[in-house]
Amino acid sequence: MITDLTKWDAVKQSLCPTLMVPQKSELPECKSGQTRFLMAADGLYLETRTEWGGLVRKLWDCPRLIPLPYGKVEEKDDFIVVLHDKVMPIVSGVMIPEAAKYAEQGKEWAGFVVWNGSDFVPWTEEFNATASAVDFLSQGAANLPEGLSLVADIHSHWKGSPFFSKDDNASDNGRIKIAVVLGNYRVKDNKPVFDWKARYCVEGFFFSGATAEDSLIEIFRDLLLRNLGEEVSRAKEDFPFREV
Ligand SMILES: [Zn+2]
Repeated sequence: MITDLTKWDAVKQSLCPTLMVPQKSELPECKSGQTRFLMAADGLYLETRTEWGGLVRKLWDCPRLIPLPYGKVEEKDDFIVVLHDKVMPIVSGVMIPEAAKYAEQGKEWAGFVVWNGSDFVPWTEEFNATASAVDFLSQGAANLPEGLSLVADIHSHWKGSPFFSKDDNASDNGRIKIAVVLGNYRVKDNKPVFDWKARYCVEGFFFSGATAEDSLIEIFRDLLLRNLGEEVSRAKEDFPFREV
């Protein structure tokens, strides 16, 4: 272990530590609110734990035939159940009628699903919408009231296709959430219909389907900015956004 670290490195390593997975001992539990890397026998994993579920995803597959001298890790995905059983019923029941009203006016729409400690519930923040953007009057879901934790960030591209744009990548760069985008709006049998796409966002990593997307932005940037206090301005310089 390196003990002589600058504050920058010490904060960074405490926020996103890398653990060597033991072979014959128990791996310490990932506590709620923690995100960490796990160096395992067959590669590198990312693990995160929120109040509403945990996720373990492989980031890098070790190309060697001989395993690295660490223990094994299994991928885990609580988010998929939350997405299908909790988030999407709220989207289709409560949010699609709202998004359709905006789609009828040729505008985007956005809302959230939050965990209130005992249940998943819809949450809205005031915004101004245009054909290509949603601008929150406050800070969106960045400053939720005490006791609420962000689960899903849903927005609509109305008649546009449901895909994650460069702007979506920038706004999803940070925190842990499920992002859902609605699109291809149409009316069928007098009912509003959208297609949708979802991905998991973990502090700058995006996971869609079974694999990690190439991260186009700096990982852990937002987490560092939230925790560095007086060094924020310096941190901003160190973490410029990269263009695609
Ligand atoms: Zn979008």
